[in-house]
Parts: sequence; C-alpha cells; structure tokens
Amino acid sequence: MRKIDAAAARLQSSRALFQCPLCRETMEIEEFSFVCARGHRFDLSKNGYLNLLPHADQSMYSKALFNSREKVSRAGFFDPLLDRITEEILRQVNGPDGLRILDAGCGEGSHLMGILQRMERLRAEDDPFKDAGPTVAVGIDISKEGIHQAASQASSMIWCVADLAALPLKPEQFDVVLNILSPANYDEFNRILKKNGILIKVVPENDYLQEIRRAVYEPSDRPPYLNDPVVRGFCSGMQNCRQERLAYQVSPDPIFLDNILKMTPLTAQQDIEAIREKLLADHKTITAAFRILVGEKKQAESE
Ligand SMILES: [Zn+2]
Repeated sequence: MRKIDAAAARLQSSRALFQCPLCRETMEIEEFSFVCARGHRFDLSKNGYLNLLPHADQSMYSKALFNSREKVSRAGFFDPLLDRITEEILRQVNGPDGLRILDAGCGEGSHLMGILQRMERLRAEDDPFKDAGPTVAVGIDISKEGIHQAASQASSMIWCVADLAALPLKPEQFDVVLNILSPANYDEFNRILKKNGILIKVVPENDYLQEIRRAVYEPSDRPPYLNDPVVRGFCSGMQNCRQERLAYQVSPDPIFLDNILKMTPLTAQQDIEAIREKLLADHKTITAAFRILVGEKKQAESE
C-alpha cells in the first residue's frame, strides 16, 4: 500500500478529531484531500502528511537540525526520558476505550515514535495493559521540514504541519498532550484535552548539556539558562501540577557528539569542530537533565 493511501485511510477513521484551521468546520476526506464543509481544501503530501497551515511559515529549524536530532535520539540519548514518559502515560490512561495522544511540537517525530514503540512493547508483555484499547497518535509541528521527515519514517501516526496557537483539532478529544522541549500554548492544550486529560511537558533543567554550554560560552558573562519562568507558566496554565527531575550522564563518541552539537541551537554560528575537540579533551560524560511536568486540564472556574 502506498504511503498516501495508508495516510488517507488513517485520516478517514480519525477525521472527527479535526476541524478546519480557517473556519473550524468539520473536515471530510475527498480522495487525497482534507476538505471542510465550506470548501477549504488541504492536500495530503505524497509521503502522507497533511499541511494544515493556512500560510507558508518560515521555520527557524533546518532539515540538518532535525537529521541530527533523529540520530541523537537513535543513539539512545533520550531513552531514559522516553521510558519515564511512557510509564506516566500508561499510569494515567489505560482504559479499554483506547488512547488519543497528541505530540504538540513533535519536530521530526522521534519522541512520539519512541514512546509508541515502548507502549506497544509494554502492552505485549504486561498483563495490566493487555486490555487497553487502540491508540490514535497525532504529531503536529509548524515545521514542514520536521513533519516531512517524520512522515518519511513512521506511518502509523497522523502527521500534520499546523500552528500550535490555532490547533486544527476539535475540543475535548485527547487524553494526553505531549510538549517535549518545545514551546507551549496552554489555552489550546486545555481546549483539546478531554475532561480528565493530562499535559506532559518536558523542559531542560538548568544543567542540561552544561558541558556544552561551558565550552561554547566560557569565558563570558552570559547569564545561565534558568527554567523557572517556564515552570511557573506551566503551573498557572494547568491544574494539580506535579514535577520531577530526571538526570543522567551519557558518554558520547565523536560522531554522537557531532550530532548533539548540531542539534542544539547553543552552537549556531560556532566552530563545531573546535568545540567538539575541547569537549572530548575535558569531559568523559555529558549531562542530560530534564524537568518533567504533569498537569491536568484546567476546569473552567465559572462551572
Ligand atoms: Zn474551512
């Protein structure tokens, strides 16, 4: 089956989740297009993703950056983080009705793919998860480059280019929204979450990639990165917020280090080779440190 046929079939069975990004009308599949009741039309790409952005957006992230992030992910850099998120999802939502999950700001999709693989593995092995219903997974990013790459690799999900500030999704449809190392829009996340839905957001801890920060910026009086404002924003955007720190060390080889340097905006316009040599000389390990934030959908105060 061609990718575009599989994507059209998948979209057909999940079309009720979507609304037109221009007028919020219901969407229907017409051959390889998604068309709203007022006639706004969005075509599926050849490799099966949907571009629901009304206007072309100049993304700041390049194809090369997404390639690097995918390689870093494949090398296992995010594995402990993805294990933890998967656990959290299955602990929260594991009913026979199935699970609808949105990765908002999915980039090239490695995190969402990694999490779904883990869920499948656990469901195959573990009794408590055996009766869980089917999973519908949607990955959205404003970057066409990122979504193109995601759709080229994994086709069991629905991939869309769209704006997080105006999600092309109907209200109260999702059990879980993921927002991993990406900007948030809490009004939109709350709107599309089901009543008992949760948002799982990951932000870098202040010591995330600290060895790279030091190699790039020292000696300089640039203020250190602090995640406090983002954490405060999360806690006022959602309710019953919990948070935890997850930190571990990785020992990168030169190729891995090369990709990690290309992945992070820290090193833009820097001499990557020189930084890599300095890092290899000074450090045996690199710090991966994340804050995992879990919050429930904010219930309307007037109710
Ligand atoms: Zn429309």
